[in-house]
Amino acid sequence: MKISVEEIDPKRCVLCGSAEKLSGEHKVKASIFKLENGSGAAYFLGKGDCFRPKIAQSLKSKEYHFDSKICATCNSDRTQNADRAFHNLHVHMRKLYDAEKPLTDSSYRPNYRVSLDEERDIFRYFAKLLCCYIADSGGPRLTRIASYAMGMSNLNPINLKISSDGFSDIIKMGEVEFAFQGGGRTVTQIQTTHNLKGIQYHFSFSLGIFESAELDCFYP
Ligand SMILES: [Zn+2]
Repeated sequence: MKISVEEIDPKRCVLCGSAEKLSGEHKVKASIFKLENGSGAAYFLGKGDCFRPKIAQSLKSKEYHFDSKICATCNSDRTQNADRAFHNLHVHMRKLYDAEKPLTDSSYRPNYRVSLDEERDIFRYFAKLLCCYIADSGGPRLTRIASYAMGMSNLNPINLKISSDGFSDIIKMGEVEFAFQGGGRTVTQIQTTHNLKGIQYHFSFSLGIFESAELDCFYP
């Protein structure tokens, strides 16, 4: 019996599995894109090509969208607070970065006052993104990440590392990467990185042994 890993039907919501009113999720929120670019184009780095950045003309460019879909309920009621919390986080990170102040404190938490609820919502935002990345790569729904993204669990499965990357004119959405145990084929971690004009968000999910085993069994 599958417990922690579920197959995703591409015609259904990657978070809850509903087929109602689906839409594609932006990799970068329109509000963030606007904040960083105004109406101008952003540099987007293509796969593994750091020297010839590809220019994505607008938010409509397919580089900014996931192929996987999210239903209207997940998009609004279930994840709106998370979207807002991330926006707020990024506004603070932008101010700190531009003022050349540390983005995080000594325990790697964002360097501004964040309530517990807001902190949860920030992690829920990255949980949602990771679900979309995994689905886009042909992977399954990992219920621990999806439940957290939807606010149905308070056990945060996401690790987030915020740092400055020094590339202050580039917006880059990374590819999803899978880390394997000891060079084998058992997935132990799934991760990716967003670089937003000098500010880097590295977010990852470490699989438990049962999740790794199920992934091994059902998605070899
Ligand atoms: Zn949904």
